[in-house]
Amino acid sequence: MRYYDKLIFELSKPGRQGWSLPENRWKESTDDLPDGLKRTTPPLLPQVSEPDVVRHYVNLSDMNFGVDTGFYPLGSCTMKYNPKIGEETASHPGFASLHPLQPAETVQGAMEVHAELSRCLCSLTGMSAFTLNPFAGAHGELTGLMIMRQYHISKGDMKRTRIIVPDSAHGTNPASAAVCGLQVVEVKSTPEGLIDINDLKPLLDDSVAGIMMTNPNTLGLFETEIKEIASSVHAAGGLLYYDGANMNALLGKVRPGDMGFDIMHLNLHKTFSTPHGGGGPGAGPVGVAPHLAGLLPSPAVRKIKNAQGEDIYEMVENPDGPGRISGFAGNFGVLMKAYAYILSLGRENVKKVGPYSVLAANYVKESLKDRYRLPVDSLCKHEFVFDGLIRGNAGTDSEVTTLDVAKRLLDCGFHAPTIYFPLLFHQSIMIEPTETESKETLDAFIQAMRTIADEAVSRPELLKSAPHNTPVRRPDETLAATRPVLRYRAD
Ligand SMILES: *Cc1c(COP(=O)(O)O)cnc(C)c1O
Repeated sequence: MRYYDKLIFELSKPGRQGWSLPENRWKESTDDLPDGLKRTTPPLLPQVSEPDVVRHYVNLSDMNFGVDTGFYPLGSCTMKYNPKIGEETASHPGFASLHPLQPAETVQGAMEVHAELSRCLCSLTGMSAFTLNPFAGAHGELTGLMIMRQYHISKGDMKRTRIIVPDSAHGTNPASAAVCGLQVVEVKSTPEGLIDINDLKPLLDDSVAGIMMTNPNTLGLFETEIKEIASSVHAAGGLLYYDGANMNALLGKVRPGDMGFDIMHLNLHKTFSTPHGGGGPGAGPVGVAPHLAGLLPSPAVRKIKNAQGEDIYEMVENPDGPGRISGFAGNFGVLMKAYAYILSLGRENVKKVGPYSVLAANYVKESLKDRYRLPVDSLCKHEFVFDGLIRGNAGTDSEVTTLDVAKRLLDCGFHAPTIYFPLLFHQSIMIEPTETESKETLDAFIQAMRTIADEAVSRPELLKSAPHNTPVRRPDETLAATRPVLRYRAD
């Protein structure tokens, strides 16, 4: 029997304990504690033995699903395998035990990593300078938009309060723009899933601060008209912001800087490998083109020469930027992992990331498009979107939904793809296999998806009631998100 077949949440038994401590030998000194600081009631902790605790946590960890346990094709999230060398490097005590307020001369190695990682990111993206301070992609968006605003203000151009965002954009784009005080204007997509230039051009006037785009876009499609979009936006005095969450598709092939983007963020936890299920940890460095390099937030690491003419690093403030956007200089552990990842791939192998991730996505797409509806049937980049099952398959039209397919996949031992996003379709299933999966894994996933399509016809009730062998089946997702129960509560 598996642990979760008899899931017992309450393990506490009055009087049971997993510890024994000697009598308090400092009785007199604790008597000196002010009464207000002393506990009057015992803590409300579960009363459990040590084996109870150990088994509880080990069993919980077994119930978890992660990239280290199986295939995780969560579109938009780039759940690639995270090489263990990253963990090893980031947890090295020489880095992990640093304090952010240590004097600069004692953290020269960490500052060199900072400077070198920035240099690598510039060369991979075609940007001219990076700040590593933001903690996530969305945080990078906000930082980038603050830089955009700073740029217009520095030119005395105060009218630019509108930002253009495509209807296919990730939800964080309009959210970041709104937080930055910008008014969001939506630009439509063509039936081919790309930005509609005819819809875009009339929007471009002197009230537009810029446009936020991701390329390939959220449908996994490359915006082929990017050069024309860039020159139109620039001609109207606006800037181009690149949401780098889809950079995995382009890594080593195409650079946002060369496409005409002025500001961008990278999601290091996606493209450059850091385990990031459940919301963190992350890093969202922001890169800028040369004309914006003076507008980055503080603090920044700068390389200078000391009196002996040797290279040393110092922390500098930038009075012209948007100030501090994070407590210190970024999420250092994630920066370390990204740096280790880039160096371990090396110049040659980094170039294979994009092409292999694109190959994997197209392989899965082509192998399934006779069973799942493909609204935009063209070459995709690193991910693609199905709009549910093809209806009327084999003459039956069951009411099997995308949610049912996703739940049934859990029974097959796979993490579900992203579902009901993007919002452009009603039954979106967004699949991103990444470059780190073998052909055998992709084939097993394709087989499972095809079996599910068969079941949708022959045994729809099996899908409606799936999953059948997971610890939790169909929780109320709204309640789970809004009122999660994450800690022990003694009654
Ligand atoms: C993940 C993602 C974001 C947000 O990044 P976080 O690091 O989760 O804040 C923004 N845009 C796109 C396209 C994404 O996939």
